[in-house]
Amino acid sequence: MTAVAPRTQTASLSPILKQATPVVVDHAQGSWIHGTDGRDYLDFTTGIGVTSTGHCHPRVVAAAQAQCAKVIHAQYTTVMHTPLLELTERLGGVLPPGLDSVFYANSGSEAVEASIRLARMATGRPNIIVFQGGFHGRTVAAASLTSAGTRFSAGFSPLMGGVHMAPFPYAYRYGWDVETTVDFALAELDYLLTSHVAPNDTAAFLIEPVLGDGGYLPTPPRFLHGLRERADAHGILLIVDEVQAGFGRTGRFWGHQHADGLIPDILITAKGLASGFPISAIAAPTEVMSKAWPGSQGGTYGGNAVAAAAAIATLDVIDDEGLVENARVRGQQLIDGIRSATAPFDTVGDVRGLGLMVGVEFVTRDGERTVPDPAAALAVQQATTEHGLLTLTCGPAGNVVRLIPALVVTEDEIATGVDRFTAALESALGARALGG
Ligand code: PMP
Repeated sequence: MTAVAPRTQTASLSPILKQATPVVVDHAQGSWIHGTDGRDYLDFTTGIGVTSTGHCHPRVVAAAQAQCAKVIHAQYTTVMHTPLLELTERLGGVLPPGLDSVFYANSGSEAVEASIRLARMATGRPNIIVFQGGFHGRTVAAASLTSAGTRFSAGFSPLMGGVHMAPFPYAYRYGWDVETTVDFALAELDYLLTSHVAPNDTAAFLIEPVLGDGGYLPTPPRFLHGLRERADAHGILLIVDEVQAGFGRTGRFWGHQHADGLIPDILITAKGLASGFPISAIAAPTEVMSKAWPGSQGGTYGGNAVAAAAAIATLDVIDDEGLVENARVRGQQLIDGIRSATAPFDTVGDVRGLGLMVGVEFVTRDGERTVPDPAAALAVQQATTEHGLLTLTCGPAGNVVRLIPALVVTEDEIATGVDRFTAALESALGARALGG
């Protein structure tokens, strides 16, 4: 008999899975992460805008724990479960008028893909127009729609066909005022529709209300209205990707609501929806949703019962604690604080945002021209960790530091965050300050 040798192999995480910080979380509460290194970190990353009600909000924890003891997984194309029915009813109260039909999945990317399938089936048209700098996910179709950096789509072509790109009104980058940039971007869209992508072949415009991974750039309301007009004129659907900007983060419940009166045809939501549990959804008018081909919507894990219970608790907390208004007020405090902290630094070109979605763009200057400075952004982002504040970078060049506090963030916590950000700026860039 030959003895079987004991296995000694261990596994490790993929070497290309890079972490923005060296922190290993032991536990987390509200706006704070407690590391296994014994340090407390103020979390202005919220898992990339996910833990909307803060880490482990007691009501979200209680709802998830109670649901775990009742049923964890009730596959929704086999049996239905009550948390999903209740969540759907509750979402009806916050969804834009007319968007009364909901399909659930697990991640933002999956929901984006569901919206594209639906738009193509509902219109019978092949093309999708996206906007430069947009981020819509990492699965192959979602990556095909993404232009927030070549790292998201390089090396595994061919990508999905039928995707066309128009300029995004990125006023700071063009060096123009917002109105001029919006006129330019709308004119270029019209040119695309005349020169290359026929309106009758176009199923949808897909846009984020605030570019997220593409640089924390609010989409000017007049641009969104311009898309709506063109969509109406040509029977094109307007899809808003609210995965990062939705669920109260911008100081309105949905990011597109900053464009007064605008109603999209399809809305995509995920991230903040369940305070950390994986669940995503698309919403559309029943008339549009029912044009999806039978069998084209489903999935093993979509609309999980524990995630749905956590989403209901998230809606309760947002409502009862006035978190949309808190995001607006604390967001103003944050952007004001960051603007004055960064004012002495010539390498900070722009500070912008909506609500609790604030971006700081780092540049070097070459006469009138500005050039992205990813090294400065990275140095500041890493210094914030040393000073006990967690932040992330974004933007195609990685030259934007983004601040994404939880919607429950307090006045004191914002003040602490601004102090720590100021200390990080000074330690990372002090010698580069104007006159420094
Ligand atoms: N859309 C937007 C606007 C996003 O910010 C993201 C995630 N950063 C996605 C889609 C993809 O979501 P997920 O990572 O859950 O697939």
